[in-house]
Amino acid sequence: MEKKTNLIHCALVVVLSLCLVSSPVLAEDNSVSVNELIENSADYNGKSIAITGEAIGECLERGNNAWVNISDGSNAIGIWMTKEEAEGITYYGDYKYTGDTLVITGVFYEACKEHGGEPDIHCSAFKISKAGEMKSEKIPAAKILLAAGFTSLALILYMTYRQLLNKKPERSNAD
Ligand SMILES: [Zn+2]
Repeated sequence: MEKKTNLIHCALVVVLSLCLVSSPVLAEDNSVSVNELIENSADYNGKSIAITGEAIGECLERGNNAWVNISDGSNAIGIWMTKEEAEGITYYGDYKYTGDTLVITGVFYEACKEHGGEPDIHCSAFKISKAGEMKSEKIPAAKILLAAGFTSLALILYMTYRQLLNKKPERSNAD
């Protein structure tokens, strides 16, 4: 009996330790959403942040640098990066493509003096966490199967109906 209690104790200790170990990792995470940045822009101004979003629209080159717009679903913001960095991005989201998903580390500016007083992020590093792709125009297999199923069902019903009609002795209103 005592052994069992000890085991439970051990399990509890392990679970609690795991909780303690994982929480500082979460606390250190400086990733934010675009909306959070915009809404609390004064708090984040001049601070290093991490942000994840889809590259959208198109890359606007400015000399050796470039503007890349990212959207994380909550909002969109311009990222100022080197032209070389921007060249690493393959897909930009639009009606036809899903853009590359970028994880950007950089400094947020509430009203960037360098760039006309607009909010932006000056990228210090980024990686592509998920490659973009062409949006699929194909009909999913499940839909085709479902449609085929319904068509067969309709045919069977129609045939049965025809057979029933033919079997009926009195067809006063038919023909
Ligand atoms: Zn700027």
